[in-house]
Amino acid sequence: MDCLFCRIIAGEIPCTKVYEDDAVFAFRDINPQAPVHVLILPKKHMANILECDGETMKALLSAIQTIAKQEGVSEDGFRIVSNCGRNGAQSVNHLHIHLMGGRQLADSMA
Ligand code: 5GP
Ligand code: ZN
Repeated sequence: MDCLFCRIIAGEIPCTKVYEDDAVFAFRDINPQAPVHVLILPKKHMANILECDGETMKALLSAIQTIAKQEGVSEDGFRIVSNCGRNGAQSVNHLHIHLMGGRQLADSMA
């Protein structure tokens, strides 16, 4: 499997894991843009949100809620982002949601 995030999920490449369940895996971004910067992804390989199904989205939503509380950002707030495709500046083609918080984030999103 020639996918970086599949290899991380398989344990072939180390990461700092913050959460795992049957369907979802989450770890700290190697190049954090905020004090809390976690990548939340389905264990099942899918390129991006265009390939995502409702069941997977539901599992991701539940993980986002759990991780936000676990990381201590649920009270002050945070941002979730999922880059998709070339114009979306997606660099790893395994669906992932960035969860960023721990400081006041920029007003600009793009
Ligand atoms: P994208 O640009 O596809 O939305 O986000 C990919 C993210 O993966 C980037 O924020 C980048 O820092 C992160 N990343 C790339 N390679 C690795 C890695 O090997 N380990 C970890 N933990 N994060 C990575
Ligand atoms: Zn993958």
